[in-house]
Amino acid sequence: MVIPHGMTQPASTYKIERTCNECGHAEAVFVTKREGAFELCDVDTLLGTECKNCAATTFTTAYQRPDLDFELMKEWATNEDLYLMQQDEDLILADELYLDLILQILDTVSIQGYKRNILMAALCVIVYDNTNKSKAQKNEQLKQRVIAELNKRQDKLKLADNWIMDYIKNVVYPQLALGKQKPV
Ligand SMILES: [Zn+2]
Repeated sequence: MVIPHGMTQPASTYKIERTCNECGHAEAVFVTKREGAFELCDVDTLLGTECKNCAATTFTTAYQRPDLDFELMKEWATNEDLYLMQQDEDLILADELYLDLILQILDTVSIQGYKRNILMAALCVIVYDNTNKSKAQKNEQLKQRVIAELNKRQDKLKLADNWIMDYIKNVVYPQLALGKQKPV
């Protein structure tokens, strides 16, 4: 594996556990942060396709998913071949934890196409979540901040329009100042 310059070989500390659906026998492998974030390791290749206990071939696999940092998110955003998961990347990223990173990537990194759309969709999901959650779980301050950030990036939002689910749009768009604020 190629390690990006300036980085030392990271320790393999992120666990992938595979449990046999037949007998419950569990095996684990440990991967690096980067391998864990992008699911670069195929567990069946590492552990074999059969359970070592009963030779069954159906498993349940649990990934310990590392938090993304700027370097990992930038690499994901600029490399079309990298996935955080095969589906629902916008849901993984729709986390207050990642808000600053998402904004930093949108504003400082040149991203083509769908990765940028996923980041914009993730911002909409944050607004959606914090509109629909129960009152105790809602974070109104976070929601208002993301609404303001979306209003500043209406050009990018327009490009991402087809990527955002209708049920999200129906909740989020009426809360935005669409067309009222010039894109910055
Ligand atoms: Zn088994």
